[in-house]
Amino acid sequence: MSSVYIDTDTQVYALFGHPVKHSFSPVLHNSAFKYLNLNYIYTAFDIMPRNLEPAIFAVEMLNLGGVNITIPHKEKVIDFLDELDISAQLSGSVNTVVNRNNKLTGYNTDGPGFTRSLQEDCSFNPAKKTVLIAGAGGAARAVGMQLALSGASAIGIFNRRSEKASELAQKIKESTGVSTEVLPWPREEHPVQQKSLSSFFSQADLVVNCTPLGMSGVAGQMPPLPYHLANPGQVAYDLIYNPRQTRFIKKFKEKGCTAVNGTGMLLHQGAQAFELWTGLSAPLDVMHRALQNYIK
Ligand code: NAP
Repeated sequence: MSSVYIDTDTQVYALFGHPVKHSFSPVLHNSAFKYLNLNYIYTAFDIMPRNLEPAIFAVEMLNLGGVNITIPHKEKVIDFLDELDISAQLSGSVNTVVNRNNKLTGYNTDGPGFTRSLQEDCSFNPAKKTVLIAGAGGAARAVGMQLALSGASAIGIFNRRSEKASELAQKIKESTGVSTEVLPWPREEHPVQQKSLSSFFSQADLVVNCTPLGMSGVAGQMPPLPYHLANPGQVAYDLIYNPRQTRFIKKFKEKGCTAVNGTGMLLHQGAQAFELWTGLSAPLDVMHRALQNYIK
C-alpha cells in the first residue's frame, strides 16, 4: 500500500506550531513514508498558543500516530502529556509526541539531531569546547543540554528575557555540572553590559542561533552579536533552515568561519522521530535527498 492512496487505515502524523508555513517536516516524513510504502501521511497544523491543549487532546481523540512540536509550544506542551522520556525531562522541552494506545509520551530528538549534524556538517566535537547560545526557548534547552552532555567545558547563554537564560543556565549546571554563564541581551541603553558578551563571544569555539531571528517572516534579522570580532577558527550554527542563508550565517562567513544552517539538524531530529513512531530505521538518504530537492 503506497502512502499516495489515502484510505480509512491511513495513519496520520502532524506538526503542531505557530507558524508552520516555513516547515520542511512534511516533505521529510512523507518522503520516508512513501519510500517504505507505509500507509502514513504527515501534515502541519498552525496551532495558536491558546489552542494547544485542545489540539493535544485531539491527538488522542482522532487517534493520530504522533506529532512533532515546534515554536512556540515545546515547553508548554509538557503540561498536557501523560509521560516524558528522559530526553524531554532533561531538556524541559518536547519536539516529538508518540501516541501509544492513547498514552502520549513526549521526547526530545532536537539535541541528538543537533550534535549529529555538528559532527557531520562541521566536523565539530563539542568536548572541552566553549559555546555561546542565543535564545533560551525549547530548541535552546535541547541544544544546551546536549552540548553539556557531550562534554562542552563552558556554555554562555543570552536571551531577550534574561530570566529564561538564567533558568536554563541553572538547569544545565545542576544536571551536568558544566560551567554556565548568563550574558546580557545587548540593548542600546546599556552599552557597558555588552563588554561581557563581547569577551565571551571572542573566546567561543561555537556560536549557535536558537532564536527565530532570520527565519522567513522575520528574515533579515539576526541575534545582536559583535560579529566584527568573529575569527576564522569559530563555527557558527543557525538552527534556521528557511531561508538557507540567514544574515547570521553571512556575517560569520564574511569572517572566514564555518557557518551552517539547520538542515542537518532537521534531518537527524526528524529521522529519530520517524524511528520512534514506526519502529523502523529511517531511510536517511531518501529523506536527505527530499530535503535538498525541496530547498532548491
Ligand atoms: P521557542 O521555544 O518559541 O523559543 C524562541 C526563543 O527565541 C526564545 O528564547 C525567545 O526569547 C527568542 N525570540 C523569539 N522572538 C524573538 C525576537 N523577536 N527577538 C529576540 N528573541 C526572540 O522556539 P524554539 O522551538 O526554541 O525555536 C527557535 C528556532 O529554532 C526557530 O526558528 C525554529 O524553527 C528553529 N528550530 C530548528 C530546528 C531544526 O531542526 N533545524 C529544530 C528546532 C528549532 P524570549 O524568551 O525572550 O521570548
